[in-house]
Amino acid sequence: MQAEVISIGDELTSGQRLDTNSQWLSQRLGELGIAVRYHTTVADDLAANVAVFRQAVQRADVVVATGGLGPTADDLTREALAQMMGVELVLDQASLEHIRGLFARRTRPMPEQNVVQAMFPAGSRVIANPHGTAPGVDLEVPPPLGRPSRVFALPGVPAEMKEMWAETVAPRLVEWGAGGEVIRHRRIKCFGVGESDLEQMLPDLIRRGRTPSVGITVSDATITLRITACGPSDDACQAAMAPTISTICDCLGSLVFGEEDDELPDVVVRQLAARGATLATVEWGTAGLIADWLSEVPGSAHVYKAGLVVGDAAALVRLLDLSPATLMNDGIASEAAVQAMAQACRERACADFGLAVGPFPQLDPAAAAPERVHFALATAEAVFARSAPFAGHPAILKPRAAKQALDLLRLHLLPPIARC
Ligand code: AMP
Ligand code: MG
Repeated sequence: MQAEVISIGDELTSGQRLDTNSQWLSQRLGELGIAVRYHTTVADDLAANVAVFRQAVQRADVVVATGGLGPTADDLTREALAQMMGVELVLDQASLEHIRGLFARRTRPMPEQNVVQAMFPAGSRVIANPHGTAPGVDLEVPPPLGRPSRVFALPGVPAEMKEMWAETVAPRLVEWGAGGEVIRHRRIKCFGVGESDLEQMLPDLIRRGRTPSVGITVSDATITLRITACGPSDDACQAAMAPTISTICDCLGSLVFGEEDDELPDVVVRQLAARGATLATVEWGTAGLIADWLSEVPGSAHVYKAGLVVGDAAALVRLLDLSPATLMNDGIASEAAVQAMAQACRERACADFGLAVGPFPQLDPAAAAPERVHFALATAEAVFARSAPFAGHPAILKPRAAKQALDLLRLHLLPPIARC
């Protein structure tokens, strides 16, 4: 069974408001085992709405639309559905009573224009809206107009839409024959290589048509593998995904840092907490991003002792009491200087670990070999240094460097034979 989600409203097509209903509805449809193939967003225009509904019922078994059910002249969903079906709008007395009742409870007379909210395409069923004045519309569209298809039109107000989905739409879909299967997703989070390198490490998992399917997305250098299975139950989906997840973990090893909503700061805080260890940071190029991320992780207050943000060499030398000689010899952007930063911040904060990010070099897109950013991790026993090329889109440079630094600590804190 395939679905299309339609979002209706000028405020959406003009970019003034983000369409969050489609995301929410697609997740719910997926939970019922109904794969969403299309998202369509359309302005408050009658002809465009009719065209969109006509197309949707040709290519989807289930169509869920939101928006356009208000009482004003730009609310055209009822009219569009009636035109698509070639039927009249007829008054539903019970809905009218409900709307009048809502106004009466607010001790206001019902404006005459609200009567249109009780008008329904002939042959459709009402979807009650317990807390709002816009009831929804439930239509069966027989061939040749539909596949046959079922159309549910709900108000755009997210709270009303969600309540009506749960109370009426989902049960009616199950009754209609949906819900025999469920769709489940798992997300595996990876960091440390590029997207195509990572794909090469996986034995043909990202092939189209494979079940369970494996998709790959990247956000600020974090790679997410999305595994999707369809089956008769949650347990069946989880069982179907388990071997694929094991294969991914075996192939990627320590490149896998977490699952689902995990981000690198979450993992690092968990690792530190598990050891009862503490961390201090000194950031130049990342300008406090690591400190900000860590501070957002619940429980980080127990493990994160201090974070220093610097932007000037003389201030850095004074604040961390660094030896000017080291810095003079090698330069402030050198590996030795960043190692000294990590060591000094660890000692000054009396932390178990000190993590340092050096200054960012000039970004030079024309350079054959980009300059490098230096990172260092100081422990009680040693200081480890890493560096990474400073290149790419300016928007990614800070978050990627912050993640590279955190990953240095994460890898250090992994047990010797780390599996995901
Ligand atoms: P409507 O049902 O078109 O009168 O919309 C009522 C309210 O819900 C307005 O504030 C809209 O901006 C909001 N809304 C409509 N569609 C969506 C959507 N797809 N996602 C989020 N909010 C929406
Ligand atoms: Mg609207």
